[in-house]
Amino acid sequence: MLHKLKLSDIAKEVGGRLVGQDQLVSDVSTDSREALEQKLFVALVGERFNGHQFAEQVMQQGAVAVLVSEPVAIEPRIEVADTTQAYAQIGRMMRRLFNRPVVAITGSNGKTSVKDWLARVLSEHGQVLKTQSNLNNQIGVPKTLLNLSVADQYAVIEAGTSFPGEIEKLGQTIEADVVVLTNASGSHLLGFGSIHGVAVEKGMLFETAKADATVVLNADDASYGYWLERVGNRAVRSFSFTDPMASLYASDVQESVSGSTTTLQYQGQTYCLVLDRPGKHHIANAMAVALAMTALGFAMIDVIAQLKHPEQVPGRMEVLASKREAVVINDCYNASPKSVEAAMDVLALYAQQTKWMVLGALGELGDQEAAIHYGLGQYAAKLGLEHLITIGPIAAEAAHGFTAIQTSGQQAHPCQTKDDALALLATLNSEHVILVKGSRSAKMEDIVNALKN
Ligand code: ATP
Ligand code: MG
Repeated sequence: MLHKLKLSDIAKEVGGRLVGQDQLVSDVSTDSREALEQKLFVALVGERFNGHQFAEQVMQQGAVAVLVSEPVAIEPRIEVADTTQAYAQIGRMMRRLFNRPVVAITGSNGKTSVKDWLARVLSEHGQVLKTQSNLNNQIGVPKTLLNLSVADQYAVIEAGTSFPGEIEKLGQTIEADVVVLTNASGSHLLGFGSIHGVAVEKGMLFETAKADATVVLNADDASYGYWLERVGNRAVRSFSFTDPMASLYASDVQESVSGSTTTLQYQGQTYCLVLDRPGKHHIANAMAVALAMTALGFAMIDVIAQLKHPEQVPGRMEVLASKREAVVINDCYNASPKSVEAAMDVLALYAQQTKWMVLGALGELGDQEAAIHYGLGQYAAKLGLEHLITIGPIAAEAAHGFTAIQTSGQQAHPCQTKDDALALLATLNSEHVILVKGSRSAKMEDIVNALKN
């Protein structure tokens, strides 16, 4: 934490009531298993646990006080109506004590990639506090902000959403100076109704940012026009592959399996971006990082030089070898329709080899489920991928889409089980490339692990 806080100040900030003696706390914890000396323990109420159950115990472990929404006989305590909300408000207190730049990132795809990449590039200029792994929700965001320290020069915070209104809450906690909105696609449609619903939700991140914040937007996104209307007086920096009027415009994209080169235009100057990993989405993410960096005052020419290596997140487009030396691309961590297309685009670059796409089901698509899978199958066939293996009944719709437009040399293999798929894949040698992808719930790593050398 940046500073010690007085219990009375915390109570005031969260609209709560302090019962017992006012004291200083040097940190805040929600986990009874942590060291708790000098800390305020916040009793969160989750679906499977209730922190109030540990209230007595944490005091014995050395906690200074508890923050609660249920009756306990402990003093000192801060009583509030909603402990999760209070936790966010304490996170915001800490953020307000941090008078250095805070960047917030949201979007349907690429949040973690952009967050980690930006943090890595920024860390060459000063200490950066960033969201650890994917802790991007109502608990993760305040937890991250509470970790701010005096040595930090920048904070880079990922904001995710699983229900309407969540980004607004996170945005109010973060009060960002720079907002990056990567895109709005069909991921997590459930609960938002439509892609526009997703765009409305994501837009809350800049609406809750500082009034003079800079907003980095994807001008190629269908929601771009809508976001521009909502952005108010905040400065916009846009990136695009199609619009030369965007702040940062990419053309002449040359991709190979070992990476890509792109010509970038920015403020009348031309730059060459060289990335050492393939995938157009890395170029989009590079542009988002570059614009965030310029918003923070860095010169484009210096930033481009720092942007050679896109983030390698485990389970995401990881290139491995199978026992029989086939190239295996492990992209099992998760899948949205956009990210499946992006991954298939990379697979299509393997011009010399026979290309196999292994697709598990995509979750959370609501009543669009069948149509989206069907469309992904068509996309794979149009790209010229030779084989599409699907696992289970939901992904089988992709096999139908593939079959509908396949030409000679292309074949769909709808499989019931992963073992059926492995029977097709196990003997493939170095003349083959196998891309494995599906939602987290599809656990497609079972296939990668079985194939792996
Ligand atoms: P989550 O919602 O799980 O937090 P996220 O938004 O943080 O996801 P990442 O973890 O960065 O996203 O990337 C998820 C997947 O999306 C990866 O498989 C990656 O290949 C793909 N991806 C990354 N950036 C983009 C992008 N700009 N556009 C489309 N797909 C992308
Ligand atoms: Mg993420």
